[in-house]
Amino acid sequence: MFTLEDRINERLRASDYQDWRAKVESVGGCAKPIRLFGCHQLQDTRTGDVLHHIGGDIFVPCGNRRASVCRTCSDRYAADAFHLIRAGLAGGSKNIPETVADKPRAFVTLTAPSFGPVHNRRTSPRGKAMPCACGAFHHPDDPRIGTPLDAEGYDYVGALLWQAHAGPLWQRFCMRLRRELAKAAGIRVRELKEHLRLSYGKVAEYQRRGLVHFHAVIRLDGPDGPADPTPPWATGELLDHTVRLAAAAVTLTIDRPDGTPLELAWGEQVDIRSVDARTAERVEADDGSISEARLAGYVAKYATKGTGKSEAADRPIRSQGDIDLLRCSPHHRQLVQTAWDLGTDPRYEDLNLRRWAHMLGFRGHFLTKSRAYSVTFRLIRGDRKAFRLAENLALAELDPDTVAVVNDWRFTGVGYANDAERELAAGIATRIRDRRNIRHHQENRP
Ligand SMILES: [Zn+2]
Ligand SMILES: [Zn+2]
Repeated sequence: MFTLEDRINERLRASDYQDWRAKVESVGGCAKPIRLFGCHQLQDTRTGDVLHHIGGDIFVPCGNRRASVCRTCSDRYAADAFHLIRAGLAGGSKNIPETVADKPRAFVTLTAPSFGPVHNRRTSPRGKAMPCACGAFHHPDDPRIGTPLDAEGYDYVGALLWQAHAGPLWQRFCMRLRRELAKAAGIRVRELKEHLRLSYGKVAEYQRRGLVHFHAVIRLDGPDGPADPTPPWATGELLDHTVRLAAAAVTLTIDRPDGTPLELAWGEQVDIRSVDARTAERVEADDGSISEARLAGYVAKYATKGTGKSEAADRPIRSQGDIDLLRCSPHHRQLVQTAWDLGTDPRYEDLNLRRWAHMLGFRGHFLTKSRAYSVTFRLIRGDRKAFRLAENLALAELDPDTVAVVNDWRFTGVGYANDAERELAAGIATRIRDRRNIRHHQENRP
């Protein structure tokens, strides 16, 4: 009988172990790396000589955003999300000047409305714990929190259709916000872009009831973008006021399966905080304003969360059998089931509900931004690639004008060969993370 331990020992003794380990380390111990075969080389364009060559089997990180799938890649995604949101708040990069910190900015949370009463933890205005409507005092980790008090009476169809339209609702919110800003300035909405540009970066975060909240940094720029001064009438107070008006006013009416109208809107709970460049790091001021660093940290955390405390599914649902086998709460299962059932209704064909059933109907991206908000993921990651290339060139003391880069890779598979390799890779990932944490402490950074 071979135990896992035996298989691990066997892998450790194999002649290619050092080689394999180096590949795993190159992807930070990614839980499910993509395997490629081919080569990357640098060629002298004048002579055709190969100056630098990496070839053979390589690993590429899976890039999954969710910590439950791959901790390594999720950490990296969070770091990139932090950088992206932070650049839009504080500037300091090539395209985003530091003056963005002086512009009116707000951190806005838009919520889903209620589709029926749910178990919750309540506190009185004086901060005293109050019982849930079911009579219990729920522990913060109680899986019942967020799930319906009465599953029979809960509007699953409404909840699922709301979630499938969360993206379009956001678009309408932005349109409405532009209109409210124009109205306040006494100009036509068509003319607004000659005075002002609205920029945002936003993330979607699943709540325990399985519906998303949007958290967005909204910034008012001048007509030419972040480097252009914002008109003096566009103040932080005006932004706050118009966001409230727009959030309350936006609706989208669709049909229920029985043909009756369903009006979709944001929840009543709208949270708006001003973002203050002067508020110290890691501090929330008494007036509720929030520091740039803390805010970017929140956003990074939201961006890597899964569908909720009891995860629904990691991959798309292919059949009723997949739903029956899901290990999740009855509430999440019912949301998946509702998406699956509505998926055959021709009136929702465009929503592709079966494809998004495992995401509880949410079809959007987790991190989105308007064009001018900040740097892009591609730029952040491109910088890294360019950096690596520059390093290679520096090592070889080459002239970039006469060097051609050749990339030729073929896909050979995903993930590790067996449980022993997975176990070893997880250990490597943990060690890399520990080393990094120690370094952070030594540098005395948050
Ligand atoms: Zn990964
Ligand atoms: Zn309860």
